[in-house]
Amino acid sequence: MTGYTGKSIRIDLSEGVWDIFETPPELCEKYIGGRGFGVALIREHITKPFDSEDMPIIFASGPLVGTSAPTSGRLSVVSRSPLTSTVFDCSVGGRFATELKRAGFDMLIISGLSREWVTIDIQDGNISIKDAGGLYGRNVEETAAILGDDGSTAIIGRAGERGVRFASIVFDGHYLAGRGGLGAVMGAKRLKAIKIRGTGEVKVADPGALKKAREEIMRLLRASPAVFGEFGLSEFGTAALVDLIHARRMEPTENFRKSVFPKSGQYSGYSMKTAYHTKKKGCRGCPILCKKVGRAGEVMPEFETVSHFGALNGNSDLQSIVEANRLCNDYGLDTITTASTIACYSEFSGKRLSPEELLRHVVLIGERQGIGDALSEGSRRFAESKGVPELSMTVKGLELPAYDPRGAYGMALSYVTSNRGGCHLRAYPISYEILRKPVAVDRFSFVGKARMVKISEDINTVIDSLTACKFVFFAASLEEYAKAINAVTAREYDVQSLVRAGERTWLLERHLNTLNGFSRKDDDLPERFFRDAGYSDENVTIPPIRRKDFDDTLDRYYRIRGYDEEGRVTEEDERAD
Ligand code: SF4
Repeated sequence: MTGYTGKSIRIDLSEGVWDIFETPPELCEKYIGGRGFGVALIREHITKPFDSEDMPIIFASGPLVGTSAPTSGRLSVVSRSPLTSTVFDCSVGGRFATELKRAGFDMLIISGLSREWVTIDIQDGNISIKDAGGLYGRNVEETAAILGDDGSTAIIGRAGERGVRFASIVFDGHYLAGRGGLGAVMGAKRLKAIKIRGTGEVKVADPGALKKAREEIMRLLRASPAVFGEFGLSEFGTAALVDLIHARRMEPTENFRKSVFPKSGQYSGYSMKTAYHTKKKGCRGCPILCKKVGRAGEVMPEFETVSHFGALNGNSDLQSIVEANRLCNDYGLDTITTASTIACYSEFSGKRLSPEELLRHVVLIGERQGIGDALSEGSRRFAESKGVPELSMTVKGLELPAYDPRGAYGMALSYVTSNRGGCHLRAYPISYEILRKPVAVDRFSFVGKARMVKISEDINTVIDSLTACKFVFFAASLEEYAKAINAVTAREYDVQSLVRAGERTWLLERHLNTLNGFSRKDDDLPERFFRDAGYSDENVTIPPIRRKDFDDTLDRYYRIRGYDEEGRVTEEDERAD
């Protein structure tokens, strides 16, 4: 079947052995690829601790990887999170998925625990486990320089080595499997890095039909103000959102105690472009190129990073935010959780940190030194250990990103329904509540949000399984991507069957969380959002969320999903068939 190589690699680091197995055709059919593959294959291991021998970490490509479909170069990484204990997937850019596919493999599954620090090297069909030798103890930049840039790399820094619960995996220097601590899963396995090169060809069933689907997607992208407009994603990167979210007065400020930061203009997309003369950069196969790099090669922070090292910590110093981003990338740390945990610490200690102190705390976390050792557990464990759990702005232990839920009720709901904890990208209601795409809705109302969130979750799940980028869907839709996948695989998907594949994966994730004891008690926001108002002036009022409206909407969501009253899925994923 085209679209898949039909082969995957399984490596056992305890025994130092590997084998190649057939990618199950029914897995391709039901779960498509990427996130779907990983979630389906982790099923039998999910109740094991993240650092046990039996817990795999799965790197999965999708059917569009290596083809000319726009934004098709992405990869999913799936395991159990050290931070949230939920099933956890990250969608990541860079070249890794393409090299994996060209090397002849759909997936790389790594289990076991090595006794010594090792790296994995894959060159086409040649697989070897090597002594990590002098790489242990080095951060990402140094390690990447030693490994070289022929092919693609996945590396953990010192944070992953030291088991920081929100350590990331850094691909090709600066594409991150950022959230959830999957870098600490690699660290537990004593796996310092993976290097992969592939020279094979990726076959497409109908190149003419793929070309046509690509042209349609490109036409929609070019016509989209959100993507290629004057103030859009391509021009300013995700930091284009700084002004938009500021104007809506839903900018998480000082650990979510306020919802507007008067000085955020100092680190907006425009300010970064002016100060650093940024250029466009992006993942393989992407025409949007939303990543930004400064004239001297500085990697520019994304929206969530600028906002959380900015407003969330009461800091408007752009240079320190760019440096905090660099430190997080070098240590291999999730920027959202790092900045949020520091903001939680700052509220606990009653002291706003200066830009210099902020940077010092990033290093302390990466090294697990001094207060950094307690903070490296994440804000929930830190706040609980100090007897102030209410200061952790998390859902299921995952720190909330840069949209105050009091300013967008669909986002409030989707934070709690998310299977991996407080995440903006599971449903991304900002698309319709703020960007007003594909339809405009009232951001301060729960009416219709339960169904809207459910549908968006299913769509975004299958986008992660295709492995495409969610940003392309500001312009295109699954309609065009169904044509692309059919052209690649010679199958006959339509929008409905793709959404059903997304729903199947979603329900399975929920079932896996149910097996680990997650239920309604975990689907809740920090009390602050129900108790305190955000910023208000004569134009915009950000009141606290009404608890009853929120609870009623969650009930409605459970009914639409087919969960029981406690939010559990006990009959697994089959309901979606
Ligand atoms: S839009 Fe940005 S994140 Fe998405 S594939 Fe392109 S460069 Fe990567």
